[in-house]
Amino acid sequence: MARKTDLIGYCGIYCPDCPSYTHSTANLARDLRSEFRRHKFDKVAPVLAKIPQYQTFKHYDKAYEFLGAIAKMRCKGACKAGGGGPGCPIRKCATKIRLPGCWKCDSFQDCKTLRTLEEYGDTNRLYLKNLRKIRRIGPAAFVKTKTT
Ligand code: SF4
Ligand code: SF4
Repeated sequence: MARKTDLIGYCGIYCPDCPSYTHSTANLARDLRSEFRRHKFDKVAPVLAKIPQYQTFKHYDKAYEFLGAIAKMRCKGACKAGGGGPGCPIRKCATKIRLPGCWKCDSFQDCKTLRTLEEYGDTNRLYLKNLRKIRRIGPAAFVKTKTT
């Protein structure tokens, strides 16, 4: 079994905090699509869309497609085990300079490569908060603050 510290990605993201790793949103999206199919929602939605309060049902096809994309968001493992984006520039950089993670890098506070995470949705800069904490207390103490 992997040590909990192995679940910290190079960028400081703790894999069990991420729905791509846990598959939580992917499973819900898959199950909702399945329920939609069971109830033949593709036939029902256009009929309901004619009722003023259900007008938004006209977007059913798009919603189904969107859920399909969410259902595919599944990492095959933790970052350190090869999960995450195969071409992740952060992992490439950290492994190239032989660091266990960006918290060991003196440039992490202003790193442009790390900043790309904000474009991909980490607008709260959770990765930066994690990296500061891991640098301060170390990976072993950091994972002890996690319940999963
Ligand atoms: S693949 Fe990249 S972005 Fe994803 S957890 Fe690993 S280092 Fe972070
Ligand atoms: S330069 Fe950036 S991506 Fe590379 S190890 Fe340092 S903080 Fe991480």
